[in-house]
Amino acid sequence: MDNNIPEIEELIKQFSKLPGLGPKSAKRIILKLINNKENMVKPLAQSLAKVYKNVVRCIECGNLKMIDKVCICSSDIKYEKICVVENLADMWVIESANIYKGHYHILGGTLNSNENFEKKKSFN
Ligand SMILES: [Zn+2]
Repeated sequence: MDNNIPEIEELIKQFSKLPGLGPKSAKRIILKLINNKENMVKPLAQSLAKVYKNVVRCIECGNLKMIDKVCICSSDIKYEKICVVENLADMWVIESANIYKGHYHILGGTLNSNENFEKKKSFN
């Protein structure tokens, strides 16, 4: 793996950016992919291309949706509750626990209140 193939090095760099993966884990994954090129690389590349092309964030609720479909927040299903979460992972945890039935609003991150306070102070 260390024979300086630029494509492999780039792949290691990209995989290392994923949460929970460092360069060693990335190398193990890439080795697995290379050893199963037809069964894993091709389907993975196709899936990534489909997600890149067809999946977008809803500008209303922040959830993921198919580019050519109406988001669940605009569907006929009406709930009286809305759960505001920081990110998609939070929504998936709540969904998998099956403890909540309602709409979601995904913020896509949070602001550090201390940072904002510091910025406000600097404007004065
Ligand atoms: Zn939506």
